[in-house]
Amino acid sequence: MSLVVVGSVAYDGVTTPAGSHERILGGACTYISLAASFFTPVRIVGIVGEDFAQADLDFLTSRGIDIAGVERAPGKTFYWRGVYSEDMNSRETLQTDLNVFGGFDPKLPESYRHEPYLMLGNIQPSLQRSVCSQMAAPMLVGGDTMDYWINDFRPELLETLKQWNFLLINDSEARLLSGEKNLKRAAAVIRAMGPSILVIKRGEYGATLFHEDGYSNIPGIILEHLKDPTGAGDCFAGGFIGYLASRRVRLDGGAVSGMELARAVVYGCVMGSFCCEEFGPDRFRTLTRDEIEVRFQEFRALTAF
Ligand code: AMP
Repeated sequence: MSLVVVGSVAYDGVTTPAGSHERILGGACTYISLAASFFTPVRIVGIVGEDFAQADLDFLTSRGIDIAGVERAPGKTFYWRGVYSEDMNSRETLQTDLNVFGGFDPKLPESYRHEPYLMLGNIQPSLQRSVCSQMAAPMLVGGDTMDYWINDFRPELLETLKQWNFLLINDSEARLLSGEKNLKRAAAVIRAMGPSILVIKRGEYGATLFHEDGYSNIPGIILEHLKDPTGAGDCFAGGFIGYLASRRVRLDGGAVSGMELARAVVYGCVMGSFCCEEFGPDRFRTLTRDEIEVRFQEFRALTAF
């Protein structure tokens, strides 16, 4: 019972107030799969170039991640470079070199097709749809998107969302997608597009979960030492779907309890917070399941009245 993850596998150049790295492992698929690997077996689909280091593939496999779906193509790996503001709440993209990612046409290995869980990272909606249609009968499908796809690929995105059970986006994207300023109304419009579970991420302020029985606000975890927020949103997604997969949650037998979904959001916040503690995905080299549980319990204590 594995989770299939599709998305970018990349090298990133990152500058934050805590330092600068020219080339570190990155990509949405990388972050989602590493975070989810603490909860459930993961199989990834992605593309890398000839320059992708064996040591980086070894890091993924050391976490038990199945890389049979990673294609190595002639050319260079996707490269993204960005710089963060002083408070690290915003970032500017300085460079995006699609390289081999520009020709990405995800093909699922036969061994992946009967898995129950699918997380579609932020790629072109038609590719997300293609991956979804290669799966035999997934029990829980969802993903991520961004303003570029909402603005320029809207009809394609709306078609894609019809197949999803959950969508994870940030508040400005939710407003853009729905055309509604008020988040409650925005959520109702988006849920009518397909995904019955909607998580609106609000950065350091936490997340709001909308589902069949209503909504809940989950506060953010305030870190004292933050080095690099790159990938935090993807790690949130990995913790969220990874936890639900570990609980064997399925939607075809009815709705998932709001409590279980809220726990999944908290695990999402926990994994996003660990991600920010080191540059790139380095925190996941040493992180243990016990540390995750300790932070989950700290979070529980913080939110109990
Ligand atoms: P996040 O901080 O969660 O938004 O994710 C950051 C990761 O997204 C970085 O590791 C980048 O390599 C990756 N990324 C940046 N731009 C794109 C893009 N246009 N398509 C796919 N992945 C991207």
